Amino acid sequence: MREHGSDTTSPSGAVSGRGARASGLRRANLAAVLRHVHLHGGTSRSDLTSAIGLNRSTIGALVGELVDLGLVDEVGGTASSGPGRPSPVVHPRPRGAQVLAIELAADAASVATVGIGGAILERATVPHDPGKDAPGDLVADLAEAARPLLTALPAGKLLSVGAAVVGVTRRSDGFVHLAPNLGWRDVPLADLLRTALAPHLARPVPVHVANEADLGALAEHSRGAGRGVDHLVFVSGEIGIGVGAISDGRPLLGAAGYAGEAGHTLIDPNGLRCGCGARGCWETAAGQTALLREAGLDPHASGEVAIPEFLARARAGDPSALAAAATVGRWLGIGVGNLVNLLNPSLVVLGGLYRQTFSLIEDAMREGLATRVLDPPGELLRVVPSTLGGSAPLVGAAELAFGDLLSDPGLHGG
Ligand SMILES: [Zn+2]
Repeated sequence: MREHGSDTTSPSGAVSGRGARASGLRRANLAAVLRHVHLHGGTSRSDLTSAIGLNRSTIGALVGELVDLGLVDEVGGTASSGPGRPSPVVHPRPRGAQVLAIELAADAASVATVGIGGAILERATVPHDPGKDAPGDLVADLAEAARPLLTALPAGKLLSVGAAVVGVTRRSDGFVHLAPNLGWRDVPLADLLRTALAPHLARPVPVHVANEADLGALAEHSRGAGRGVDHLVFVSGEIGIGVGAISDGRPLLGAAGYAGEAGHTLIDPNGLRCGCGARGCWETAAGQTALLREAGLDPHASGEVAIPEFLARARAGDPSALAAAATVGRWLGIGVGNLVNLLNPSLVVLGGLYRQTFSLIEDAMREGLATRVLDPPGELLRVVPSTLGGSAPLVGAAELAFGDLLSDPGLHGG
């Protein structure tokens, strides 16, 4: 308990202390309770008391407030709550607050409604043709796919929209400067989404847009393989390579959100021309196009079709597929080694293509990594596949959209 003494902030974000303004303190503590339940699911009041570091009656009052806001439910008690009264279990109430999450990858796009607590309520996918679809057309298709999902929500309950896009994206206004694998340049994506979704919404809601790999890193840190890890790098393979980093528990975004374009760092001066215009970028050696080309498959085929085909061939022992896995795995490991020397993560999470092919590329990836990484950062390092499946950026987009509510639950219900 921290009812006395100077202002303190616990690891959970709970704030207490005489100096803090009462309303700010209450808001921060309410946020800490909601955030814990949102990320950990059903939690007994007694476990909340120890996790948040506030006393039992304060937790009781905060939970009561969240129940009144419709954001959590309290159910019965637990058998494990020891002698005395059983401790009620606090659950997130998915239908109490929902966001629309959008993922815009290079050759597929999806929309999902997600409830507080992170449950995906409904999901729809929108196929598209990379480099050919105009941004406005693709956004219109996304809005059309979202329409039945939004109609199914209780009126006015959509809180916010979060979108993950494979491009260099300015966080402040959701402006996509450059997305080579979508063929986009200077696309005001947040504005386009706001306009296209407006007819399907009872009231205007905020629209947040961020880079797909940054949101994948956020998702892994919040709910995936990197839960509880404060220094992690997420590396996602598809046509390009996306990188997002969490440093000291916080997203590493750079001045405007452009950090992490490691797919466009040099790995081979004599390499192939990249979609960004430069030569020898990491993604030309270790992205999906390279893998398919090396395996003798159509390098420009949709990943949804071509990757299962690649996996089937590799598992059947096809020499070209196995050689492709070894080549791409090695280039992947070399690039990961560069990142590890630069950022000193304790965990690298591999997503997208690298999650799907992990068992095939792992040995070559570790060999490539060993050629680059220095001993001290290498000794601290684990490299694992994503546990969130292909949905890490979509999960991260939902987390981005929930950000305002999780900072100030009192905003809800307005
Ligand atoms: Zn490039």
